[in-house]
Amino acid sequence: MSGVLPAWTTDEGTARATTLFEQTFGAAPLGVWAAPGRVNLIGEHTDYNAGLCLPIALEHRTFVAVSPRADRLVRLVSAQEQSTVREVRLDDVAPGTVEGWPAYVVGVAWALEQAGHSVVGFDVAVDSCVPYGAGLSSSAALESAVAVALDDLAGLGLGGDDAERAALAAACVRAENEIAGAPTGGMDQSTSLRATTGNAVLLDFTPGLDAVDSARHVPFDLADAGLALLVVDTRAPHALVDGQYAARRDACERAARTLGVTSLREIADMLGRSESPADELPAVLAALDDDVRPRARHVVTEIARVGTFVGLLDAGDVTEVGPVMDASHASLRDDYEVSCPELDLAVTAAREAGALGARMTGGGFGGSAIALVRATDIAAVQDAVLAAFADAGYTPPDLLVAVPAAPAGRAA
Ligand code: ADP
Ligand code: MG
Repeated sequence: MSGVLPAWTTDEGTARATTLFEQTFGAAPLGVWAAPGRVNLIGEHTDYNAGLCLPIALEHRTFVAVSPRADRLVRLVSAQEQSTVREVRLDDVAPGTVEGWPAYVVGVAWALEQAGHSVVGFDVAVDSCVPYGAGLSSSAALESAVAVALDDLAGLGLGGDDAERAALAAACVRAENEIAGAPTGGMDQSTSLRATTGNAVLLDFTPGLDAVDSARHVPFDLADAGLALLVVDTRAPHALVDGQYAARRDACERAARTLGVTSLREIADMLGRSESPADELPAVLAALDDDVRPRARHVVTEIARVGTFVGLLDAGDVTEVGPVMDASHASLRDDYEVSCPELDLAVTAAREAGALGARMTGGGFGGSAIALVRATDIAAVQDAVLAAFADAGYTPPDLLVAVPAAPAGRAA
């Protein structure tokens, strides 16, 4: 099956990062750490609304070979960035001071220091098989790999249990928001650091929730049900740092203010307790301006869909989740307006070729779609999607099969 991106084994990723480190810095690294990209099953644009989402970690990981330094310099090289060596002094790191990809790395060191931990300078070589800028969170994979590396090197002891990993995830979120300048929520980093093999992770972004209570691991065994999750990286341009993501966040905040709640989660919970949420929704959102109402409707209904999806998994009815995925896509396309023609085509082509359900995943405006397919239909659905893209004259998409994999940790 051409066009399918395999995940690197631990040995392969370790060898690649180590070789790049040795070629660049002339010595062996002290160790290699790795962290996965993620794909979200359901619950899109809910994390910054104190909502719920249900991602899995991918087998596709970013590897970082690292050695500590005696000074406070960071030297960085990445196989994905022309292998040009960059240098940043930890003392110079502050919002707005770091250009380009090194922000995702030194931002983590900065955030750990802001949280009261002491961090030293380091040399780092990065290599990754997580598709880049595809909505599969190569950014959080990079941050999380660096976070577990610095945690080990500085002996911070934060990588051990889930509560400590939640603290590492918080540092990665600050790195991405404040140093890289991308106003994303917390889903990506929490998944890369806290998801577990064989499970999806139900993340609850209610503020103040105890870290351990904010994640529940939900068995997601597709092979057992004769199913597979296909990911289509449309390779359509996706740029979350532009104004669209911030505009959606702003609309949600305005909606919450008008409705007199601290977050749209409160509206979702209130409707969740009612007899017929769908009937009551229009009246509840009536006070909102016309441009904001559909945005709020997406968030509120999407949080409910996460509950429905998890309920089906808990009941062992994974074959029933397709329509919930389809409804999520329609809501993201029509109410939240974050889809694009390539994502819509991937979803339609997959469904026509027999997918049980399909939706865009990640922030949108490009990036990836997912399709739940019978294991026996994988090749047919892949071929159908490739053919549809070829017919439309789009760049051929990359395809991968997602399996719920392990979180960030030491690779060698
Ligand atoms: P996504 O997280 O969906 O892949 P983002 O736009 O959030 O897309 O993050 C992509 C950015 O993260 C890249 O432009 C780069 O700055 C940084 N990045 C991710 N992976 C790497 C890597 N392996 N090497 C260097 N930079 C990386
Ligand atoms: Mg990202």
